[in-house]
Amino acid sequence: MNEEIKQIIWEKIGAYRRIMLFRHSRMDGDCAGASRGLRALLRATFPEKQVLLVDGQQSDYLAFLGPDDAPVPDGDYSDALAIVVDTATRERISNQKYALCREIVKIDHHIETDPYGAVNWVEEERSSVCEMVAAFYETFRERLVLTREAAEYIFMGMVTDSGRFRFGGVTGETMRLAGMLLDAGVDTETLYANLYLQDYAALKFKAYVYENMQRTEHGVAYIHVTGDMQRRFGLSFETASSVISYLENIRGCLCWLAFIECEQPEEGVRVRLRSRFMSVNAIAEKYRGGGHACASGATVYTQEEQEALIRDADEAAKEYQKTHAGWM
Ligand code: AMP
Repeated sequence: MNEEIKQIIWEKIGAYRRIMLFRHSRMDGDCAGASRGLRALLRATFPEKQVLLVDGQQSDYLAFLGPDDAPVPDGDYSDALAIVVDTATRERISNQKYALCREIVKIDHHIETDPYGAVNWVEEERSSVCEMVAAFYETFRERLVLTREAAEYIFMGMVTDSGRFRFGGVTGETMRLAGMLLDAGVDTETLYANLYLQDYAALKFKAYVYENMQRTEHGVAYIHVTGDMQRRFGLSFETASSVISYLENIRGCLCWLAFIECEQPEEGVRVRLRSRFMSVNAIAEKYRGGGHACASGATVYTQEEQEALIRDADEAAKEYQKTHAGWM
């Protein structure tokens, strides 16, 4: 069935002169890599088409990618095909002008709750949307032109969303597709330097986090990052949010949480929820969020709500431990 959907998407791409790419707000490596990678793939294959990625959002972590395309008049959207990657719901699409496009294709690996496309290609078990883009290339490889640039973008998304090929969704096919991209000449040394070198200030912040993290009775690790902390360590909101990854390897902690105060108090506190084995998306959903079983996001507005969320996570961890022998 997915082969059929890929064929339909291929035909849609063929039918349009202008193709606009879209992704989600608070860009990450996967949606950035998939949108950039598709743009490079389609531009190299169809030089006569206009393929644009107009987004306007910035990311410190991905600043090395450089800017997206300049804005275009609203009228340019109306005869375009929109391809939206990695975005489960329409509100999360960062450039809301997607709605002006004539037709929408959704390509995503999140749980399907909002099939907003005329065509919806959703494979929840994929480790990244970039893996789907790589699979799309593989299906039409006789007709698509994979440049080194395209391969680097797509590989970047596969690496970042799978935690460097460590997370559960990684399969043999993930690795085969990644191998195909490497064969196209990906410069992994430069890519990993761009992705993983850390600023001195960020490392000082890491030391602070390990000094101040806390743990509930049933092993939920958490940290709260105030606005003051962000200013003291000279952190962008995005770098402060990356604190979640510092907590991921604690023995006995199946679940870890980061609470990051937003710049404007009325925006509340961003919650990032992560887990191993047990799932956290139901907890996120209770606090204005959602996501994947082991990676979700939410928002809380008061200290009481934050404490209630921690209690819920602790309860879920307790329940998991009770029903699963041998957990780590
Ligand atoms: P984050 O911690 O923001 O990287 O979020 C992890 C995952 O949870 C993302 O892949 C999103 O799919 C999802 N997510 C984050 N925030 C929300 C939200 N407010 N509503 C629904 N899903 C979310």
